[in-house]
Amino acid sequence: MDPRTQSGVPNEAAFASLGWKQLLAARLQYYRDLGIYDFYRRNVPAVLTEAPSGATECSPARSAGYAVSVSEIVPSEPAPSLSRGTAEIKTAIIAPADLFAAPRPEAAVADHGDALKLIQEDLGECRRCILSRLGRKTIVFGEGSPDAELMFVGEGPGADEDEQGRPFVGRAGQLLNKMIEAMGLKREQVYIANVVKCRPPGNRTPESEEIETCSPFLLRQIAVIQPKALVALGAVAARCLLGLNEPMAKLRGRWFDFRGTRLAVTYHPAFLLRDPRQKKETWKDLQMVMEYLGLKPRRAVE
Ligand code: URA
Repeated sequence: MDPRTQSGVPNEAAFASLGWKQLLAARLQYYRDLGIYDFYRRNVPAVLTEAPSGATECSPARSAGYAVSVSEIVPSEPAPSLSRGTAEIKTAIIAPADLFAAPRPEAAVADHGDALKLIQEDLGECRRCILSRLGRKTIVFGEGSPDAELMFVGEGPGADEDEQGRPFVGRAGQLLNKMIEAMGLKREQVYIANVVKCRPPGNRTPESEEIETCSPFLLRQIAVIQPKALVALGAVAARCLLGLNEPMAKLRGRWFDFRGTRLAVTYHPAFLLRDPRQKKETWKDLQMVMEYLGLKPRRAVE
């Protein structure tokens, strides 16, 4: 029996007469009729199921309907195909197959720079979230090489970035520059963006709704640039890109897989300015990234 009315809406009385398999099949058919074909299942390993209380979980990737393949790479015995310091990949979240549900203007553009321009045009003078009405001066889209092998993702612009329309140009940015140089790279060789593109008032942490509204643009930037490695700077970027609600101690020092791209988490440079003792730990994280990218270190972060 087709448990739907003529309008295609499931008929609950008819549903009630079905077994669970038929129910499931009918429900799937109903979604197919609506044009929804892709479904996914989340496999959350035990180690990741306990969320620390008080922390905000946000997964812009999922909420925006993007495919998310987030795997945790747990430190362990070296896997034959991986170098020392890396480890086996343990799946945390399995993703929907539909990478981009809505058509993207940049999809047909081969040149990464041109594609990024299209994303920026699409962003326009964005008024999609409340940050546009809370004193932002400029939208900080992101900058760097459109073909970067390494991309850093921060939290959101501060006062200096808001003034200049460029990411990481204040004190934290100067430290990030040193980190990049210590890795043997120039700032122009990497790409730098943030989870939100407008300054939250008083440099407060961006709210989930702001992140969910803004982050699809970041995800599109990542998809265009296709870096070999992503570095999430701080817990906000890490939690939001990975959709995991874990403290920094559990996130850093290991690899994650973000939709086929390796993602490492390290401390935010602003945090390092407050607690310089953690620079050593950051340097370890960056060395892990350098090893993967085949980079020779210049010097440790000072
Ligand atoms: N902090 C961030 O997270 N991003 C910036 O662009 C500047 C400071």
